Amino acid sequence: MEVFIEPIGRLINEFSKLPGVGRKTAQRYAYRVINMSEGEARAFADAIIGAKQRVHFCKICGNFTEGEVCEICKTRDQSVLCVVKEPKDVIALEKLHEFKGGYHVLHGVIDPMNGVTPNDIRIRELLARVQGGAVKEVIMATNADVEGDATAMYIARLLKPLGVKVTRLSRGIPNGSELEYTDDVTLSRALLERTEL
Ligand SMILES: [Zn+2]
Repeated sequence: MEVFIEPIGRLINEFSKLPGVGRKTAQRYAYRVINMSEGEARAFADAIIGAKQRVHFCKICGNFTEGEVCEICKTRDQSVLCVVKEPKDVIALEKLHEFKGGYHVLHGVIDPMNGVTPNDIRIRELLARVQGGAVKEVIMATNADVEGDATAMYIARLLKPLGVKVTRLSRGIPNGSELEYTDDVTLSRALLERTEL
């Protein structure tokens, strides 16, 4: 027999789909929602639906945006592009207030063990941007792990014949670590001391 009445059980199921949320935490979240006023609950649900409806990928760089093209692509120098794995990596780099160029979000890295091939991530789009001729340097800012390194090397090989400078964040970033969890000082230095591939 199910312990929870159906509406609560359903809520618990939904919360337990979130990363890092186990069954116990999902129950706590569900009880909190039940204790909300109707207005609070509606605002909570609206925020989820609103984000889902209004957030898209920028058609140039692949970052999150509300419109067709994001603010960074509209307003910033696109002669230097920072290539990252995910939109959250853009946030990590933007927090430094140091990088003034544009971005290219791959939405993944090459990972043959998990069936991710070069065709599954936004490499083709990056090549098209560089072939446009306005890009002078591409900074490979994928994570400092096996897949991040392999992806950086793979893309560098494709880009170099196009006459563009390709660099990689320096190894100030500890091996295996993700940009998101790298402290600002280390990440700033890795960006400043980037090396040519
Ligand atoms: Zn963009």
